[in-house]
Amino acid sequence: MSNFEYVIDRFADIKIMRYQIPEFETLTAQQRKLLYCLSQAANCGRDILFDQFFEHNLSIRKTIDAVVETCTADRSSNQYQGFLTYAKRVWFSNGIHHHYSTDKFFPDIEQSEFKELIVCSDFSKMPAQKGENAIQFAQRITDIIYDHTTNQKRVNLSGDADLVSTSACNFYKGVSQTEVEQYNAAQPQPDAERPLSIGLNSRLVKIDGKICEEVYCVGGKYSAAIEQIIKWLTEAEQFAENEHQRKTIEKLIEYYKTGSLVAWDEYNILWVKDLDSRVDFVNGFIEVYGDPLGTKATWESVVNFKDLKATHRTEVISQNAQWFEDNAPINQNFKKAQVKGVTAKVITMVQLGGDCYPSTPIGINLPNADWIRKEHGSKSVTIENITYAYDRASLGSGSLAEFCCDDEVIARTRKYGYQASNLHTDLHECLGHGSGQLLPGVSGEALKNYSSTLEEARADLFALYYIADNKIVELGLLPDSEAYKAEYDSYIRNGLMGQLVRIELGKDLEESHMRNRQLIAKWCFEHGQADNVIELKKVNGKTYTAINDYTKLRSLFGKLLAEIQRIKSEGDYDAGKNLVETYAVKIDQQLHAEVLERYRKLNLAPYGGFVNPVLSKVMEGNNWVDVAVDYTENYTDQMMRLGREFSFL
Ligand code: ZN
Repeated sequence: MSNFEYVIDRFADIKIMRYQIPEFETLTAQQRKLLYCLSQAANCGRDILFDQFFEHNLSIRKTIDAVVETCTADRSSNQYQGFLTYAKRVWFSNGIHHHYSTDKFFPDIEQSEFKELIVCSDFSKMPAQKGENAIQFAQRITDIIYDHTTNQKRVNLSGDADLVSTSACNFYKGVSQTEVEQYNAAQPQPDAERPLSIGLNSRLVKIDGKICEEVYCVGGKYSAAIEQIIKWLTEAEQFAENEHQRKTIEKLIEYYKTGSLVAWDEYNILWVKDLDSRVDFVNGFIEVYGDPLGTKATWESVVNFKDLKATHRTEVISQNAQWFEDNAPINQNFKKAQVKGVTAKVITMVQLGGDCYPSTPIGINLPNADWIRKEHGSKSVTIENITYAYDRASLGSGSLAEFCCDDEVIARTRKYGYQASNLHTDLHECLGHGSGQLLPGVSGEALKNYSSTLEEARADLFALYYIADNKIVELGLLPDSEAYKAEYDSYIRNGLMGQLVRIELGKDLEESHMRNRQLIAKWCFEHGQADNVIELKKVNGKTYTAINDYTKLRSLFGKLLAEIQRIKSEGDYDAGKNLVETYAVKIDQQLHAEVLERYRKLNLAPYGGFVNPVLSKVMEGNNWVDVAVDYTENYTDQMMRLGREFSFL
């Protein structure tokens, strides 16, 4: 579908995109049915997440849904449109706090206007309390929405205050941070080598002075939603691709029935070893970013299948790992005699749920328990149909045209940019980090606070050096010897200018990936100046980057790789510090101000998220024969449908 529209909605600081499911039609009907059941399960936990984020989120969402469905107000009025923007933001954030900053956000209309909309809607659909009339209900619910004093932040991580009582999230009720910490510390850990994830799947509340743990399971907290998840997992079991996968699903069901953390670990071990199946999924209480204490997990799900072609790419890279190591432009003593590449799985997303929806990760690395990772391994995946949608959406955003003045470069970026950037990531992950070795006696900690920036730079340089190698074309990883230039263009453009849009004027670079990119770009800019390898040029008062000599730039990448590998292998802290402090931290203030101003004029949404494709059963009479996929549902319709069909709490 060449005219597929990727960006379908825009409000506040958010854009909503769609993604496609390539190769869906090449799966078997059984695989598609499995994906369908797992996708249903992925939608069943939506209410759980709303409730975990804030105790009044579900009431507010149900109110919003009822207004959208039934209010009699003029839908084109500013009043209704202002309300609708707020509704879209609540759906997007799974509650009334910003999905990223976790700050509470507010409607652009007055409280009285919000109340009017509630009152002119069908009261029977409102989550009112017993004895409450429409006016009383509208007052109570909007008092929560417009409250500017309490629950202003979902996750508070700063200051000396009690992090539990100053965070609006709903993992705790009536307990202090100290009480939570004491309670968790008192829980038995039968095996210190293999610690259970204590507190992962429960809420702690104080009832009559006593602390109670409400476990998320059948018969416990969120039972009604969990029963629906189990219903669909049970359905999924019969379409499992093999016995191992069926047992994995069965174990997850046992965990949901009991809430047992032992079962959760057993499930994760089965899951991480399920490598032969094409279809895969994540479903459970997993990430702990939503809890200021980093203990309790939000509910999430993703449903996907392996992208065979792209995974083949990472396999080819791994199979040739030794060749890359042997030919690296670094000192022989710093090379590994035996190197093993990592094979990353590339997946195609089919459905996003819970804390992965609508805002989604582009890569997943699970399970989280360190001991399971050490003893049984982990799965690291990149999600290519999602990154593809991001790429297509950004090509239409105008930012390439703003920051690139060369038509040839723009055309090359459109042609090769996506492919080359994926390959860069693969080389970085599958080979870069694993290459090289420390000299005997050198500590892995020698580079201290500079180690992660230097390590990211090393992996990036490995990728940048090799992406221009003939070997890459020979192995069929890029179509021709022009393609790598697209990655060089975008890397230098981003490292010297592009990435600055994410930094406030006057601040330094802190994040290690951003530091590493500037380190590489600035070092090469400076060391190539005599030959004019990279140029910062002004056209009509605007600054642009240009690469004048790609071959020389490649050898600069090789030189810097050799030096950073030396720093790492020898543990040369002073040289590492000097590189980072000289090139990676400080930002040219004038250029930064210019970049921010140009970016602001593009009026782009800094955050993005996705609607899901809609899967439906294909019936022949009473027989379920297959699954169809549809991409046409818009954002509001999807949110309203989820509210109707998957509301269990
Ligand atoms: Zn890395």
